[in-house]
Amino acid sequence: MKLLEGKTVIITGAARGIGKAIALKLAEYGANIAFTDLEYNDAAKEVEQELEKFGIKAKGYASDASNFEETQQVVDKIQKEFGSIDVLVNNAGITQDTLLMRMSEQQWDAVIKINLKSVFNFTKAAQKYMLKQKSGSIINLSSVVGVAGNAGQANYSASKAGIIGFTKSVAKEVGSRNIRCNAIAPGFIITEMTAKLSEDVRKEWEQKIPLRRGGTPEDVANTALFLASELSSYVSGQVINVCGAMQT
Ligand code: NAD
Repeated sequence: MKLLEGKTVIITGAARGIGKAIALKLAEYGANIAFTDLEYNDAAKEVEQELEKFGIKAKGYASDASNFEETQQVVDKIQKEFGSIDVLVNNAGITQDTLLMRMSEQQWDAVIKINLKSVFNFTKAAQKYMLKQKSGSIINLSSVVGVAGNAGQANYSASKAGIIGFTKSVAKEVGSRNIRCNAIAPGFIITEMTAKLSEDVRKEWEQKIPLRRGGTPEDVANTALFLASELSSYVSGQVINVCGAMQT
């Protein structure tokens, strides 16, 4: 029997990047996958088809994770269509990097709303089913800059630090119902999000990494597999850095 056979996983923002890699990895280990992204477009349809090759149930949903009402509706729909929600991966996120002196109110609000409020929205909607079934694993994508801060990312770092506080609080709140909640703090991972950075900035990051390479989405997905499964049954309220020893 596969590690996640019969389990239903929700992953937000999984039409590409780390979310997509997590979806593929968990499907490989037998999980049924419900994933969201802003649009149900060709990229999302392709992810759905790739997932189905593992012989599991897979479906993509268009949903703005930062919208409270929409989130309640999509989670209720997934529960109806899949029959349970066993794992929630809060992955959807954005960057709008600039120095604080240039940062607009809009840039602050957008990043906090999409990165932090989305985690509240999905966790609140999914936990009611997890509480009833007395089991669940919630995995939140934070970042090493949520732990250490980073110049030019005050909004993003604040949102990712907020996720850590939220993760630890939820772990304490719902632990007695056999629900675990952990955060992954990736370092520099090669995705479309980091492709926006200049070659010089990317090289500078890589030189700071003791393992001397940027991480891959699969490096993060392997950690998500551990946290989603019973292999981590006594791990909750933790932040796991996946950063090639960049931050110790
Ligand atoms: P990405 O930009 O490649 O993918 C993010 C996905 O989220 C996209 O498909 C996007 O459409 C979706 N999304 C954005 N806003 C959304 C919303 N409101 N509702 C639903 N979906 C939405 O990013 P990535 O590099 O794969 O990052 C995934 C997560 O990992 C993010 O939370 C990011 O902050 C975090 N992270 C990434 C890195 C890195 O180096 N790439 C490092 C640390 C943390």
